[in-house]
Amino acid sequence: MRDEDIPLSVRNLTIRYGERTAVEDLSFDVHPGKIYGLLGPNGAGKTSTLKAILGLVEKSSGRAFVYGKDVRDDPVYVKNRIGVVLESPVLFDSLTPNEFMEFVASIRKVDNRGRIEHLVNAFGLQEYMETPIASLSMGNRQKTTIVAALMSEPPLLLLDEPFNGLDIRSVKIFKELILNHVRRGNSVLFSTHILDVVEKICDEVGILNNGRMVEHGTMDDLRKRLEGSDLEEIFLKATKMDEEIESILRAFE
Ligand code: ATP
Repeated sequence: MRDEDIPLSVRNLTIRYGERTAVEDLSFDVHPGKIYGLLGPNGAGKTSTLKAILGLVEKSSGRAFVYGKDVRDDPVYVKNRIGVVLESPVLFDSLTPNEFMEFVASIRKVDNRGRIEHLVNAFGLQEYMETPIASLSMGNRQKTTIVAALMSEPPLLLLDEPFNGLDIRSVKIFKELILNHVRRGNSVLFSTHILDVVEKICDEVGILNNGRMVEHGTMDDLRKRLEGSDLEEIFLKATKMDEEIESILRAFE
């Protein structure tokens, strides 16, 4: 496969914040038409990895290629191919969802107004479109960033804990939209702590612990290798938390 056909290729990525190494020598690929789930305990380095792919981390080494190009070499090429859900920056708090979406639509050159309206309706945001983002509930803020990420139908979605705060209806709709997205040959990388979503929709899973990839593969690969029946068991074994949890619980007996 040619480099420009690979949605994401992370190579030897290392991220440091001062003395602390948040991510160390991380390499993985996201393939066309596939969903990759990035798992890991709090502080494992998931958000830092997503930020580095977008060029938002200062001290990093290694490379992350989006359809063959590193964001540091060609930011416009990369950003035009990615839809992003990160924690919404405070900067946008004074805008309404309507203004924020207009802003994103203008940068991303989205002229399919019908798609924006469909997304707004799908997530039930109509009645909040003129409310300042700062006054929205956590779930409605999250839905606003999701609509902004999906509106230009970018071939790669990078989503940091995208299901946070969403109600059950919105989780279901969002999962189906993600599946539609990959059926058309697009790709998704997302981080999450919600294991049943990962089991249901991910083609490949990577488990980070202390900044290192401790396991990765398809659910079947991981089940076989770690002899776990479900992802919770696999995750706890891969991060060696199974024994730790047992000893913590013994202290309560
Ligand atoms: P969570 O599941 O809690 O969101 P995560 O896997 O996304 O965690 P990161 O946010 O990438 O983890 O953090 C990885 C490590 O880097 C943590 O130890 C964190 O404290 C540290 N870190 C992250 N951002 C910064 C920063 N801007 N300055 C200093 N340290 C940071």
